[in-house]
Amino acid sequence: MGARANSPRWEIAYKFPAARGITKLNGITVQVGRTGVLTPVAELEPINIGGVLVSRATLHNADEIARLGVQVGDKVTVQRAGDVIPQIVNVAEKGENSEPYVFPDVCPVCGGAVVRESGMVAYRCVNSLSCPAQIRGELEHFVSRHAFDIEGLGARQIELFVNLGWIKAPADIFTLIEKHGEELMNMDGFGAKSVSNLTDSINRARNIDLHRLIYAIGIPDVGEVTAKILAREFGAIENLRNAGSWKLEKIDGIGEVMADEIVSFFHDEHSMQALDNLLKHINIKNPVKVSVENNILKDKRVVLTGTLSKYTRDAAKEILENLGARVSGSVSSKTDIVIAGVEAGSKLTDAQKLGITIWSEEDFDNAIGER
Ligand SMILES: [Zn+2]
Repeated sequence: MGARANSPRWEIAYKFPAARGITKLNGITVQVGRTGVLTPVAELEPINIGGVLVSRATLHNADEIARLGVQVGDKVTVQRAGDVIPQIVNVAEKGENSEPYVFPDVCPVCGGAVVRESGMVAYRCVNSLSCPAQIRGELEHFVSRHAFDIEGLGARQIELFVNLGWIKAPADIFTLIEKHGEELMNMDGFGAKSVSNLTDSINRARNIDLHRLIYAIGIPDVGEVTAKILAREFGAIENLRNAGSWKLEKIDGIGEVMADEIVSFFHDEHSMQALDNLLKHINIKNPVKVSVENNILKDKRVVLTGTLSKYTRDAAKEILENLGARVSGSVSSKTDIVIAGVEAGSKLTDAQKLGITIWSEEDFDNAIGER
């Protein structure tokens, strides 16, 4: 495994060779994710594939089980490639006493009804409000690195706090220490030091970038990239909340299905109650307001020169372009505005000679609504 930096180019194609092995399918269990989707998991007789002991593989969904024709007791071909979850490729040998698998019609975690939405492959537990698997999954997503990034609050702690009834929704995280700090201090595996660390990381998370918030609240299908697009496009959570699907669909990277998901999320009473409760505990750092309409920078030719204290050249350029301005590298009689930072050079002199409007960084701040 060594000498990666020196490995010849042609080896790259073989970096993750798929390895296969044949083993017995001992059983099928079902996991419930944060959106309530039931995912069948193959419980395998442990087998060494390419140096890794594999005892579970994904079966994706009920259709996949039917397609493979796989039954508990069969011998199956398992494939493992790189870091991807191992999967079952085919049935290698029918078992003598293999039994057909019946997909559960109730949630294995909460006993709630299971439905298959029309046109969807997945079965879902309908108990989104009270299914512990969904609540845990939602909270784990909420505290994850690209969301609120709360160190010291991992899957284990979340399970514990959910079971104790201390955390039922994201907002409860921000009152956890206030309400249960003392009990926590005396709990096994905690103590003063870890409670103090947890307090710090929860407090840090109170200041949250808008795109992280959008990602964290778990709108179906909205990942990090989409969250960033939405944050930039809407500039504030309230604007996104009130957006109609027609407006969402016009945005590059948002399709019709996703627009509908977003709108129905923001029309869901439970989700909005949870969001309102959460908003009481956090300060959202909104991206620089982007209002293309009526902005004085719209269609203006702008030149940046010198160093700005709050923005890198790229960031300033992005803001200007988002506001509809055209940023160019050199000053001419067609230039409308020159934004001059510290140590502005010949471009500033040129602008002065041509009588072009010159802005300081403060003028720029005012124009984009930053203070
Ligand atoms: Zn459930």
